[in-house]
Amino acid sequence: MISSRRRRTLVSIAGWTIVLLVIVLVGGTLPSATQLLVTSSLVLLTGVMALQIFSGNSGILSFGHVGFVGIAAYATGILVMPSAVKQTSLPELPWGLAGIELPIWQGMIVGILVATVVGVVSGLVIARLGDAASIATLAVLIVLHGLMVGAEPFTRGSQTFYGVPRFTNITVAGIVAILAVIVARLFRDSRIGMHLRASRDDELASSSSGVRVQYARLISWVLSSAVAGAMGAAYAGLLGAFSPRDFYFTLTLTLLTMLIVGGSGSVAGGVMGAIIVTLIIEILRRVGDANELFGLTNAGLAIIILLTLYFRPKGLLGFREPEETLAYRRAPAEIATSEFALPTRNSSPGQVVLAAQNIVKRFSGLVALKGVSVTVSAREVTGLIGPNGSGKSTFVNCVTAVTKPDEATIILADQNITNMPTWKRARLGLGRTFQTMRLFREMTVIDNVSVACISAGMSPTKADEHAMRVLHVLGVAQHGNRLPGELPYGDQRRVEIARALALNPRVMLLDEPAAGMNPAESRELLAQLQSVLAASGVGILLIDHDVALIRSACDQLTVLDYGAVLAQGEPQDVLSQPEVAAAYLGGSESHAAETNSTGAQEGNSNDHT
Ligand code: ADP
Ligand code: MG
Repeated sequence: MISSRRRRTLVSIAGWTIVLLVIVLVGGTLPSATQLLVTSSLVLLTGVMALQIFSGNSGILSFGHVGFVGIAAYATGILVMPSAVKQTSLPELPWGLAGIELPIWQGMIVGILVATVVGVVSGLVIARLGDAASIATLAVLIVLHGLMVGAEPFTRGSQTFYGVPRFTNITVAGIVAILAVIVARLFRDSRIGMHLRASRDDELASSSSGVRVQYARLISWVLSSAVAGAMGAAYAGLLGAFSPRDFYFTLTLTLLTMLIVGGSGSVAGGVMGAIIVTLIIEILRRVGDANELFGLTNAGLAIIILLTLYFRPKGLLGFREPEETLAYRRAPAEIATSEFALPTRNSSPGQVVLAAQNIVKRFSGLVALKGVSVTVSAREVTGLIGPNGSGKSTFVNCVTAVTKPDEATIILADQNITNMPTWKRARLGLGRTFQTMRLFREMTVIDNVSVACISAGMSPTKADEHAMRVLHVLGVAQHGNRLPGELPYGDQRRVEIARALALNPRVMLLDEPAAGMNPAESRELLAQLQSVLAASGVGILLIDHDVALIRSACDQLTVLDYGAVLAQGEPQDVLSQPEVAAAYLGGSESHAAETNSTGAQEGNSNDHT
């Protein structure tokens, strides 16, 4: 049976291929000026797909891709230009390139490869940058532009490079555009595409779900540089003569407008944007020419971008493909009861699956953790309580490498994970939830969980199946096709737990999962957690303020106070110690209930993770 994700992808690819084929066939019958317009917009569409692959999925706006377009255009141009022409147009061409005259398709492919190599080199830098990445892509554009101007023997510098055969007719442009759309659509729902979209929505939550953010960015950057190269190769054959100016801000602005107006988050948005903006540019150009208003087109594009960002920041089509929107109107398919079983991870009950030893964390003057050691065993719940600000969330962050501890030894099952990054710990079986919920807002509930299934090694298709299973265990499978923001608060928490559980974890660290729930809801959640515990063998670290809940749920209990362990052991013994009552309970349990509710509403202002 074909999975619904794969079916959607195929429907989309078939649909867009037909649409573009019709455009090519109809366009071929039009007068040559109109045909040229269609051809050039198909070439631009290829560039928009390049941007969609990287910017649309990663959320990092790229200003650099036009550089790849230029590099590929020159490379292709040099390779397919007749040798006789090269003698006059590029007399100083080195490396024996003067004698080389490749067939068109070969020249295009080599041009794409050259852009891809430049993509790899620049990608190694771009992928490492966080918030600065977007600005760095601008540097890529400027550097590549400088290269085109500077490499005179190859490019004639800022003078016009001429003599390229005009091989890009509407058919060539159409084929290249169709291939680009297919690549973009396949990438969107690939493992890395899913991971990248998760990182776009929430980088921290994605790495805690096993997403290797830098790697996903690198792969998409390289893939998109290749697609931008395809645009460049086709553009060379469309223009025949060009200069570095043709691959600079104007083209960047054009491609970005197309992507942003249509909606960067979907392939459909990119295609629609390319069509709409082509029409707008054509109108502006005619109006500008008639009235001698030079620069009207660029100004128009800039205004369109601003208006779109202001009124419809996600673009006309938003972040979903049309076929997704259609499919998501329906409830997810039921799954057979026989398939509910979760895989079992920890074989022997009571085995220590997490040993966090001597964690010290200082925030400049403040010592948030003063040598805290906690262990979690398979099939058991270890409670972690303490007043607000006592270091509970910091402990979870240190164990998951979200925060770097000053001192620590952390053993997961038999493995020392002390020096591993967050994503690797997640993949080895360390699941977590956040005190302030962090779901992937633009992805459906199923996709939220599938991201973690993919980290656990499943294909997207298997991931969807397993995600539904996990969602069912937590009683939220019926919401599978909705966006998490549409769900009641308690169900959102369950989705977050499902996402952690989808890693097939050895341990789950749950940071106040019952915050914001009423007592009945938290009992229900507890019952679900206990069935999860029994079914999967996972060990749970549970942070909560509700002493009654902790007392009934936990096998072990640690009390923190000002970053130090105040008491540790069996819940009954710990809770009856007078210093615990004094420091934590403040003499009554009402204080605890109070902090619970305030903590829930704003998710504790001092902690955003
Ligand atoms: P809890 O989860 O028990 O309420 P936290 O772990 O959030 O407590 O905080 C412990 C202490 O560390 C608090 O004093 C808090 O202000 C401080 N703290 C937590 N995170 C940071 C941070 N990123 N930078 C500086 N101080 C922090
Ligand atoms: Mg906290």
